[in-house]
Order: sequence, then structure tokens, then C-alpha cells
Amino acid sequence: MKGKTRAQEICKELGLKLTPQRMAILGYLDGNIAHPSAEDIYSAVSKRFPGMSRATVYNTLASLRDKGKLLELTIDPAKKRYDPDTKPHHHLICLECKRVSDIDRMFDLELPDSLGYDITGNHIEFYGYCPECRSTRT
Ligand code: ZN
Ligand code: MN
Repeated sequence: MKGKTRAQEICKELGLKLTPQRMAILGYLDGNIAHPSAEDIYSAVSKRFPGMSRATVYNTLASLRDKGKLLELTIDPAKKRYDPDTKPHHHLICLECKRVSDIDRMFDLELPDSLGYDITGNHIEFYGYCPECRSTRT
């Protein structure tokens, strides 16, 4: 099973009990570039584990997020999305289909020292219409 060893490692690191459900959640997230919401994750994983509760998904996501293993994106105020790619990167958001895509290019941004901040990161969101949605817009 893809991501099994990694899922086991992550559970151990987070001090989480290794359950088949958790393994499935971690496996689903591993390398996932679709920025799924908690509900997306729940519906995908509960196909294999019909008895799984939403709380299992939410708790696992919260633990991963708290330990810095998962980015929680609040781009779409209606639903949080999750990104297992925790290295700094920016996002593109389609206003029509709401897909979130990665921008791997970084931008050289500098803020004036006069702000007095010790800057630890940034996140840029670009909005627009994806190629598929563009082609159907009039
Ligand atoms: Zn679109
Ligand atoms: Mn991303």
C-alpha cells in the first residue's frame, strides 16, 4: 500500500495510535495535490471504512496541522482545505470551479524593516478562471 511506511512513521511521530482508518487518511493525503477539504477526505476514506466517523478525520487533520505536517488553507471561507505539501508555496484559485492549484515559483518579496516584523513566511493567492472554466465562459 502506497505511503504505508510513511503513514506509520507519521503516526509514531505524532503519538497517534496506528489505526487502519488513520493509515487510510494519511495514505490519501500523501502526495495529494488536489487540496481536499475535510469532507472530501471523509467521503474518499469512508468508502473503504464505512463506519468511520467524521471526528476521526477532523482529529487526525488537527493533529497533523498542529505538528506542522499539514497546511490548513483558509482561501475558501466556506471550506478549509488541506495540503500535505508543507514547503512554502503559493496558490491559484479558480473562481468558477473552486479548484486550488499550486504555484511552485517563489516571488522575491521584501517588506520594509520599518514595520519591525521578523517575517517568517508569506502566502500569495491568485484568483481567476482555470483553463477549463475559461473555455466555457462567455
Ligand atoms: Zn475552474
Ligand atoms: Mn498547495
